[in-house]
Amino acid sequence: METPLIVIAGRPNVGKSSLFNRLVGRRQALVADQPGLTRDRQEATAVLGGRLVRIADTAGLEEAPPESLSGRMRAGAASSLEQADLIVFVVDARAGILPPDAHFGAWLRRLGRPVLLVANKTEGRAGYNNALDAYSLGLGEPLSVSAEHGEGLSHLMSTIAEMLPPAPEGAEEEPTEEGEKPLRLVILGRPNAGKSTLVNRLLGEDRMLTGPEPGITRDAITLPLRDTTGREFQLVDTAGLRRRARVQDEVEKLSTGATINAMRFAEVVVLVVDAVDGLHDQDLQIARLVEREGRAMVVALNKWDAVEDRDATRKAVSDRLERSLAQLKGIPVVTLSAMTGANVQKLLPAVRAVHDTWNKRITTSALNRWFEDAVSRHPPPAVQGRRLKLRYVTQANARPPTFVVFGTRAEATPEDYRRYLVNELREVFALPGTPIRLDFRGTVNPFNEKE
Ligand code: GDP
Repeated sequence: METPLIVIAGRPNVGKSSLFNRLVGRRQALVADQPGLTRDRQEATAVLGGRLVRIADTAGLEEAPPESLSGRMRAGAASSLEQADLIVFVVDARAGILPPDAHFGAWLRRLGRPVLLVANKTEGRAGYNNALDAYSLGLGEPLSVSAEHGEGLSHLMSTIAEMLPPAPEGAEEEPTEEGEKPLRLVILGRPNAGKSTLVNRLLGEDRMLTGPEPGITRDAITLPLRDTTGREFQLVDTAGLRRRARVQDEVEKLSTGATINAMRFAEVVVLVVDAVDGLHDQDLQIARLVEREGRAMVVALNKWDAVEDRDATRKAVSDRLERSLAQLKGIPVVTLSAMTGANVQKLLPAVRAVHDTWNKRITTSALNRWFEDAVSRHPPPAVQGRRLKLRYVTQANARPPTFVVFGTRAEATPEDYRRYLVNELREVFALPGTPIRLDFRGTVNPFNEKE
């Protein structure tokens, strides 16, 4: 099979080029610095979710006069769109859905190629709600990203990979004996938390299968390892990690970009925290990124050998995590010493457990048994004098667990009620340490079309 082709389409200024650059791993500046860059279609190869793909940015549309915009969009984009294995249709959530978006969307639906709807510019609080507008296109659930701020990209990449036609035999990662793919994890944390020591410790105990493998990106390599049960892992090792910085730590300053980049390839993030030092804001920042990118997380509370009051330390860290990370409750904490090796053997089992949780699928019947009960115990509030009627819930996706609640005016469900349901879901179905996504959909038919 040929390398699958992904075409990015949408009206001008929705952020196609920024997204293109993000997906192919180019610096943001290219967009701003070179006007006209998108005048011709550009194409690049990239690795998304472990798949080699071609990505094309449709262009030549920027100069089209507004009145004929949607027509021009079709003409300009048609040839590449017809060959696309997947069309990434980008809309600007800040500007809302404009007539050209709607026309183009309707045309795309008739084209019959697989379409992934992406709502760009959704940074900040308002962003998510604006993205919901895009449901009206009838192209399914919009995936929210901010190409400019680098948010939601790993989710986008894995979704794209999932939507592609299956790769031919042998092209994918080798499954292990149990038929499972190696579990991809990344170790993150502040400088000096003990990440390198931990990686070396993990690799040191006869677990390394082969040498380091060439990078999935220029800056990262993957280290294969196997735990005592035979489960295989791929440790995504970022450059700053193994190569000990001679001058600590000019290079290793924690940048959002580097963190996201490493997280992209991982399913589970191990956040290494220096227990002597306690939990810093920077640690919480990493954790929030993990949440936003929809990854599962385990905290390795390192340097446990050097901690004097263990009870107090454990409590302080757990309390702060619970308080500061409402969106990622119940993160498993493993106390260990990378230096002495004490308790290090507990880390990979914890990673596996949280990975299982992250992959979990709950049956619709179990969900709705709970839902009926949860809603009758604590009925949804009235909004603008009218009761919300929440009817049923279904799990739309895993990795991370994603649920959709349907009902009359369900989209008007207030934030604290949403939180109530998420907390319940987490407790009742035992989903600690993973983000949970919960969407609300009104029962208005989004497929009504005026054309
Ligand atoms: P990185 O910057 O996160 O990769 O941190 P390193 O692995 O380089 O560790 C930073 C320092 O912490 C080094 O001096 C390590 O020897 C020390 N260190 C790492 N793990 C432990 C541990 O479990 N206990 C103690 N006492 N020191 C540790």
